Amino acid sequence: MTPFNQVTIIGIGLIGSSLARAIRREKLAKVIVAGDLSKAHCAQAKKLKLVDSATTNLKTAVKDADLVILAVPVGACADVAKIIGPALKDGAIVTDVGSVKQAVIKAVSPHLSKKVHFVPGHPIAGTEHSGPAAGFADLFKGRWTILTPDKQCKPTAVKKVADLWKRCGSKVEIMDAKRHDHVLAITSHLPHLIAFTIVGTAADLESDTKSDVIKYSAGGFRDFTRIAGSDPTMWRDIFLHNREAVLDIAQRLTEDLTALQRAIRRGESNTLFDRFTHARGVRKSVIDAKQA
Ligand code: NAP
Repeated sequence: MTPFNQVTIIGIGLIGSSLARAIRREKLAKVIVAGDLSKAHCAQAKKLKLVDSATTNLKTAVKDADLVILAVPVGACADVAKIIGPALKDGAIVTDVGSVKQAVIKAVSPHLSKKVHFVPGHPIAGTEHSGPAAGFADLFKGRWTILTPDKQCKPTAVKKVADLWKRCGSKVEIMDAKRHDHVLAITSHLPHLIAFTIVGTAADLESDTKSDVIKYSAGGFRDFTRIAGSDPTMWRDIFLHNREAVLDIAQRLTEDLTALQRAIRRGESNTLFDRFTHARGVRKSVIDAKQA
């Protein structure tokens, strides 16, 4: 049986279009609709046959939907919820894919009626690319999706969203929103902050050194440029909406970096060796967990 009659995806970019592809492939909806403020993205989504229809009118996009997936930048969620809130059917389920959860819940919840079920979510999968053409159906395969429903959320709605992610190839975990934001600050937001910083530092170098940095980037720099090549709007919003957790973890990083600098200056070879051995072990754990 098809689990949903109509699924509407607001924001048909990398994540939204990947979901559209997976939902289509797995036959999880009879009708897939895209709502996106970008006319070009609507046209592209139709041309690529990702959806049955696409419109810049977000109210029209959601009015018949059983499931609405918000796949816009975190900072746009409040505006979108304000527009679609009054147009949603009673009993509709709203979920999202935002990389920050507490701020999205705070932004979206006030605009939804009590007859609508909100199941916040976040797939821990992505690339540095954006837009409808960048998506692919297997993006979520073997990756985790974290759902952060509150206690009032109807278990059947949570199950429906969890089942959709599982059918899209994802593993699902239910987590408290605060814990999500803390964990992601370490595993995703801090690495991006470091990458943006390193690439920014390189961009500030004198031009002859800069060209050597590009030429010899395979020494490690190129891996940071991939991460730093991510969408600026998305990342601006993530840092502004997970401020506390990011600043807390960045402070810890600063302390650890200072300790490593001291070890290098003092020639403390054991400290360096132990630190790097420990880091190598963490890499092995990531590979063993099939998340490399
Ligand atoms: P994306 O490729 O840039 O797609 C976002 C889409 O939403 C674009 O088509 C954008 O149009 C549109 N949009 C922006 N503001 C809108 C609004 N107010 N109303 C309607 N449409 C709007 O971004 P993405 O990478 O898919 O990210 C979407 C969400 O997924 C973000 O919340 C992000 O935190 C989360 N996420 C991303 C990743 C990742 O690796 N990329 C991973 C997990 C979760 P314009 O381009 O014209 O603005």
